[in-house]
Amino acid sequence: MRVLVSVVSLFFLGIQALSEWSYSGDDGLEESRWPEKYPSCGGERQSPIDVKRREVHFSSSLLPLHMVNYEEEGLELSMTNNGHTVQITLPNTMSMRDSDGTVYRTKQMHFHWGGRDSEISGSEHTIDGMRHAIEIHLVHFNEKYETYEKAVDQPDGLAVMAVLVKVEDYTENDYYSTFISELENVKYTGQTTTLRNVNIRNMLPGDIRHYYTYQGSLTTPPCTENVKWFVFQDSATISKAQAERIENAVMDHHNQTIRNGYRRTQPLHNRVVEANFPYSPDEVSKNHFYMHEKISHGLKLKKIKKKRNHSH
Ligand SMILES: [Zn+2]
Repeated sequence: MRVLVSVVSLFFLGIQALSEWSYSGDDGLEESRWPEKYPSCGGERQSPIDVKRREVHFSSSLLPLHMVNYEEEGLELSMTNNGHTVQITLPNTMSMRDSDGTVYRTKQMHFHWGGRDSEISGSEHTIDGMRHAIEIHLVHFNEKYETYEKAVDQPDGLAVMAVLVKVEDYTENDYYSTFISELENVKYTGQTTTLRNVNIRNMLPGDIRHYYTYQGSLTTPPCTENVKWFVFQDSATISKAQAERIENAVMDHHNQTIRNGYRRTQPLHNRVVEANFPYSPDEVSKNHFYMHEKISHGLKLKKIKKKRNHSH
């Protein structure tokens, strides 16, 4: 009986124990100290990074990823709150083929979000310093290693697709409804639920042809530097209400709401980010430029008019 009691109490201690790492230090080793326990986290090929668009190398030999079975209907997927995020297990029937011919199979997808203060974004990768509201990671393993567990320690073992999600006030995205409504069933760390009728393709951006790619790492300990990253150029969109539901839905080991679960961007060092599309300033900056020109043109007209008046 005594033994049984000890075993039972150990079990509960285990559940309540501090997480081994965290972002802020509230619940385990804080981000800046990860390298003390996980040396790879202090390496020179870490993720996430800030993608500086002017410094990205356009490579015309990079093809769109050849993606198979992401649109499969009627899947039943298990979703778990692991104390850091919510993670959806993906069947290894989904696969993508990289330009160099490597085939990667899916393992899981999970989410990074902000929300610690109102309207704080939580993506991991930033684009020209700009952080999106949410980032989704679809974790894949190199097919030649047969399983994720075998691939996870190999130098060319993993590939992650990153989806940046932006918020537009009233643009409700129905493709996220099932995922969001199931969050209440994984409110506490360790809980698992089943997602029915989700279509993974529909949760991705409209355009999945264009991407940035570079060699990096897992963004959580042990930060293994064996990840080929593919960050889609296009983003997915959800409504403000949907983002708020994600930001307030789930709790960590201490029953604190999980927020701001993203790692700071890491130095690029001597790596190069490539893209399969050329750099072009986006529409917003084009508009700014156009307005600027219009204004200065208007000023010139006024000056010319004045001069004419003088000469009369
Ligand atoms: Zn992640």
